[in-house]
Amino acid sequence: MTTTLHTASERLAGFVEKTPLERYVAPATPSLAGLSRAQLADALGTVGVPAAQRKMRAQQIWNWLYVRGAVTFDEMTSVSKDLRAALAEKFTLARPEVVAEQVSVDGTRKWLLRLPGETPGERPHEVECVYIPETDRGTLCVSSQVGCTLTCSFCHTGTQRLVRNLTAGEIVGQIMVARDRLGDWPGQTPPPAAIVPTPNSGPPELGSKVRRSGKPDLRGGRFVTNVVMMGMGEPLYNFEAVRDALLIVADNEGIGISKRKITLSTSGVVPNIARAGAEIGTMLAVSLHAVRDELRDELVPLNRKYPIRELLDACRNYPGLTNAKRITFEYVMLKGVNDSLADAKALVKLLKGIPAKINLIPFNPWPGTRYECSDWEQIEKFSELIFNAGYSSPVRTPRGRDILAACGQLKSATEKLSARERMALRAMAMTD
Ligand code: SAH
Ligand code: SF4
Repeated sequence: MTTTLHTASERLAGFVEKTPLERYVAPATPSLAGLSRAQLADALGTVGVPAAQRKMRAQQIWNWLYVRGAVTFDEMTSVSKDLRAALAEKFTLARPEVVAEQVSVDGTRKWLLRLPGETPGERPHEVECVYIPETDRGTLCVSSQVGCTLTCSFCHTGTQRLVRNLTAGEIVGQIMVARDRLGDWPGQTPPPAAIVPTPNSGPPELGSKVRRSGKPDLRGGRFVTNVVMMGMGEPLYNFEAVRDALLIVADNEGIGISKRKITLSTSGVVPNIARAGAEIGTMLAVSLHAVRDELRDELVPLNRKYPIRELLDACRNYPGLTNAKRITFEYVMLKGVNDSLADAKALVKLLKGIPAKINLIPFNPWPGTRYECSDWEQIEKFSELIFNAGYSSPVRTPRGRDILAACGQLKSATEKLSARERMALRAMAMTD
């Protein structure tokens, strides 16, 4: 008989982190969408492409997928008919299934995506992806897990029991879905209608813009210019998949969203911050939310494992930081909890020496939460103090209001609606 001795750190880990309850089970006919060059080459091997040709063929498929946005094998005219037919027998080009789309009058769009789950009888796995267009950019907020490994007390996702890591393909798939739905591939025009329009939604702004011009945009890739990993889940607890996905998204021979325009948000998984710097190299956002360990232990329980000092040391060591490449510190505004001016002063002091931006996020309440959003007046004072200390401290006015419940009205809203608003608010805070 073997006895397992648990160390203190193992017990702590069990307390702040959930164990994934679900594993990904690949569909019988897997999709090539979201695969890396090496994985595409392997897939080609399974349909009998000789080893010497695989690299070149994989590059062709890669090009069709990530430059042209192909959704059928038939479109791949540079690939022989026989190979197309062989691929179509074993693979698809499917993206995550869009089960609902909402389009706001201001162009904000949200997609509810259904992902395969393992447990019969469980609700299907769903994640959301939010697109926020602005005059000079379009930001897509992407999820990394169904649920989250962690249990932050103010976060609705943290209360979910079920966790499943998204595959790299499902992460890349979210960007492909957005580009499909926005008509954001070369030669395309946006599809006309949302799958589930909301009662008040007007014509989609982007769609009308393109249609007015009278001819399709031949370049594509103009709408989704920025990606933020700020949807559901803790990206650094799904490290390999997030890394592989972001390297595909950033590849300038494909989707080509540069690393400077991709932001990975973490609640502070310290060892993986250094890894992210070395192996991914995107911009970093850190969910700080408190300036004292005692309070952060409560808001972000992972702080018990990786306290503020260790977290900020990891930030200081993040490669390539300059005033032009700064870390974004996210700070959710919780009434009477972390929103005093003394907290603001301590925040400024704490971040001294780190090239930083501070994003104040108005707390988005959800049914059953014990927290409230700070008063706007207090948020403004907090923001002003930080601004006067030399930090940009944007607080964004909510976008997509017609498809979101306004702050404070969420008690009567469904969980789904509140999840949408939460994500949109986070993404908005990131677009400055
Ligand atoms: N897990 C990662 C990324 C996803 S959460 C992280 O925690 O950083 C993205 C951001 O939204 C985080 O800063 C998170 O703290 C914040 N957030 C979570 N729930 C929120 C809520 N109810 N209101 C406002 N911001 C929230
Ligand atoms: Fe997970 Fe981020 Fe929510 Fe914390 S704030 S529970 S890390 S999604």
